[in-house]
Amino acid sequence: MIRREPSREDSIIERFFRPLAKHPGALALGDDAALLAPQAGFDFVITADTTTAGVHFFPDDPADLIAKKALRVNLSDLAAKGAEPVGATLALSMSAATGEVWLEKFARGLGEDCEAFACPLLGGDTTKTPGPLSISITAIGKVPSGTMIKRAGARPGDLVVVSGTIGDAALGLLALKREGLVGGLSREQIPELVRRYRVPEPRLALAPVLREYANAAMDISDGLAGDLAKLAAQSGVGAFIETARLPLSGPAENALRNEQSITGLIDDPHMLSTILTGGDDYEVLCAIPETEFHAFAEAAGAARVPVTAIGRFESGGEVEVLGSKGQRITLDRLSYSHF
Ligand code: ADP
Ligand code: MG
Repeated sequence: MIRREPSREDSIIERFFRPLAKHPGALALGDDAALLAPQAGFDFVITADTTTAGVHFFPDDPADLIAKKALRVNLSDLAAKGAEPVGATLALSMSAATGEVWLEKFARGLGEDCEAFACPLLGGDTTKTPGPLSISITAIGKVPSGTMIKRAGARPGDLVVVSGTIGDAALGLLALKREGLVGGLSREQIPELVRRYRVPEPRLALAPVLREYANAAMDISDGLAGDLAKLAAQSGVGAFIETARLPLSGPAENALRNEQSITGLIDDPHMLSTILTGGDDYEVLCAIPETEFHAFAEAAGAARVPVTAIGRFESGGEVEVLGSKGQRITLDRLSYSHF
């Protein structure tokens, strides 16, 4: 007789991840693969993102927040495509020394967000690695057939629009790196900025509004300036944005003004660079026809997502950042790049 003892891998899956596999197609994580029936009249939208310790989060960050960020960066992609979540897979590569306490907290954070965003776990893989903790999530979403919003589609004359506020997560990361010492930021302002870095807010509520009004969209993950350049390039257009119109949180405004008061330079590019190129915003960047902007902003407001027009797409291929007197601002780099 062969008795099959569950391996540690099996018991991790069973104990921590099976409770999150609420989609019937997940087959309670008892099979080799999940099963999804295509729904008539809908397209699947599929995206993957890997988050790695030391690159996307600090190794000693709280495990529940690491899980939430890993899922939310994927949900942010779905939101920007106008999609609604269907489910997600999780490939977890961790050290053999990862303990049950850490796993319990990780699964709890993930479970809370799977529930909150109606995105059940469909399956995944659990492996050991001698390297840093790495979490790869693939999220599957759906849109009514033919309605996914692409990066291509912005037209000259469309407004450049962003959701929420820009630069907070980059400032939060800067504050973590400098142990709280960022000019213009008070001690009380830092936790909120750090929260924006650790736990982004995917703009899923904006998805149906984008489907109705946007000519093009993407989520801002690597910094507004570089991501705008990517969207413009895919659309075959140029664009300008005006720094005076950037939606900034109170703390970001303080940090910017403080630096200007030290350097004496209006539009000093250094702090602006952090805000425009630091990344991790996970806000939506989109192209909205000018005549539709009012209706778009109203619908976004009803979905509780603030939106701001910060510039315009133009013909040609240039992407420009204009300062408060209309002067061109040169940034040291456009966006975060891994390589
Ligand atoms: P296989 O050897 O066929 O890849 P596994 O034993 O790795 O199967 O996985 C068994 C089941 O558990 C599969 O349904 C798989 O999708 C699921 N699974 C494994 N790891 C995870 C994980 N980290 N999160 C979610 N589901 C997982
Ligand atoms: Mg298998």
